[in-house]
Amino acid sequence: MILANARLPDGGLVDVEIAGGLIVATHMPGKAPPAGDRLDLDGMLLLPAFVDGHLHLDKTHWSAPRLPHVEGRSVRERIAAERVQRHRVALPIEARASALVRTLIVNGSTRARSHVDIDNDVGLDNLEAVIAVREAFRDWIDIQLVAFPQSGVTTEAGAPDLLAAALMAGADLIGGLDPAGFDGDAGGQLDIVFGLAEAFGKGIDIHLHDFGEGGAAELRDIAERTIAAGLQGRVAVSHAFALGTIAPSLFEETADRLARAGVAIMTSCPPSAPVPPVSALRARGVIVFAGSDNIRDCWSPFGDGDMLNRAAIIAERHQLSTDRELRDAFALATSEADKALGDPRRGLRVGAVADLVAVEAASVADAVVDRPPRALVLRGGRVAAERGVPSAALASVPVPGAQSREAETELQMRAIEQALRAELGPRAAK
Ligand SMILES: [Zn+2]
Repeated sequence: MILANARLPDGGLVDVEIAGGLIVATHMPGKAPPAGDRLDLDGMLLLPAFVDGHLHLDKTHWSAPRLPHVEGRSVRERIAAERVQRHRVALPIEARASALVRTLIVNGSTRARSHVDIDNDVGLDNLEAVIAVREAFRDWIDIQLVAFPQSGVTTEAGAPDLLAAALMAGADLIGGLDPAGFDGDAGGQLDIVFGLAEAFGKGIDIHLHDFGEGGAAELRDIAERTIAAGLQGRVAVSHAFALGTIAPSLFEETADRLARAGVAIMTSCPPSAPVPPVSALRARGVIVFAGSDNIRDCWSPFGDGDMLNRAAIIAERHQLSTDRELRDAFALATSEADKALGDPRRGLRVGAVADLVAVEAASVADAVVDRPPRALVLRGGRVAAERGVPSAALASVPVPGAQSREAETELQMRAIEQALRAELGPRAAK
């Protein structure tokens, strides 16, 4: 396949040759060898496909009717709201997660990391549903799953065993939640999380909302434990709001320890919190990557699964305004996220997988500012979406469990009909 007249981020025009799902060569326009498939981009900007480094596929209400948001700002209040609300969502997880995955792909993401709730309320049910969705869409998107202890680790009876079961069932990483702020036992939670990571050979991605010097101390503890466990490059902390709330000298010390330990920081840049300073962290060698986090769920009524939009939100919040800074914001949703998630065979280069996005823009900076619609999304050289519409192949991926649910509903309807007939028959005869 040839993608003809593609504009590269440096402004040059090339023909991109794709074979076996990989970018195999670039040629001067018109100089590419003949190919069975030829798509003319007519000077459109070619970008590497995006990465959504943090979302919650099991929580989203995407494609279901909107549930009114329940009040409550603290983590504990939101968890309480979710415990009631999660049972009121109209559609099963498989349907909502599948709809969101399709949206991610149409918006240009072919890689994502989803945290999945593991607690006594849901057990492994959410994980099993999301694993089925991951399997269904595996030709179109790579999804990492984090076993996320939404109700705590040391304060939720049996949580360590459930988390271990989740890792055995197919979760790729072990998660955590505010070791001090939620469990009130930073050492206890981190002992269990790192213990599970070592026992199962998995990476770690911890939700850390804890502010101030306490939160910064937890970050330094995580960095130390990462080195001790030999997990450099495989640990991430999501949110890390503490980094946006501490004095400059403590920030520098904490950032340096994170950089040395290869602990990456994920930011979704929520408007409600003091977010970690992206440029200052990167200047000290910390990998920073971006994610949507909550998309229309019990935690937030907002979100759209569009990482170009997320890059713009991050740029605006951090006043990243020059073209170089706008490219940096874009990198959080592409190259930096790929570093954080592992597997370097992605990007806009020969030898990388042909996961690509084409947009009407003159430069990466223009793309971040304008957020143009995605004209073309390729996954391994196959067309996944064009102009906001999934390809026939992507659209035809069946929603896991839908057939069995339809069959189940039909059986139930028949049973109800029979029961009604049995009930009404004799009365009708009277
Ligand atoms: Zn999250």
